[in-house]
Amino acid sequence: MPSARVTPRQIAAAIRNVPDFPKPGIQFKDITPVLADPRLFAGAVDLLTDKFKPGAVDAVVGIDARGFIFAAAAALKLQAGFVPVRKKGKLPYRTHEQDYALEYGSATIAMHVDALRPGARVLLIDDLLATGGTAAAAIALVNKFGAQILEAAFLIELKFLNGRGKLQDLPVRSIVVF
Ligand code: AMP
Repeated sequence: MPSARVTPRQIAAAIRNVPDFPKPGIQFKDITPVLADPRLFAGAVDLLTDKFKPGAVDAVVGIDARGFIFAAAAALKLQAGFVPVRKKGKLPYRTHEQDYALEYGSATIAMHVDALRPGARVLLIDDLLATGGTAAAAIALVNKFGAQILEAAFLIELKFLNGRGKLQDLPVRSIVVF
């Protein structure tokens, strides 16, 4: 018998708010209690991959670092490959890179040049959508490969920051909205 389905509300209840981390004024959404609960972790992965059957996605692209956790689990479930988007300087082989603006300064993300083939069907996953800068950069990077992003999926969306507005016309799924 499959266990009863996990609801977004149950996941939301397990997310821990940590005020003023990593700096004053930021309320950090700590997902480790979700990961530590096997039912909630499995339920979160089920909700993130809801739209797709095994075989419908070629690669699940996960964003450094908490995105890796959900993306790797989703890749196994969907019988897809897992591809990391990492901060510049971490990947050992040749990379494609994408710069993006931060509140102060800028950052660069990277993927191995052979990570995706043209036309690959991609599900993009991160733990949280805030301003959308990170996800928009990841989308631009995946687009350099000529791959096709089917959906961008996030466990958490901070709606008041309107990150969706930066994600072009892509289908966006978020499980828990604050
Ligand atoms: P953004 O580029 O503003 O959409 O930020 C998204 C990235 O920053 C994600 O990879 C998140 O893991 C992280 N992030 C941003 N804000 C928070 C927050 N309040 N709590 C936890 N992670 C956050």
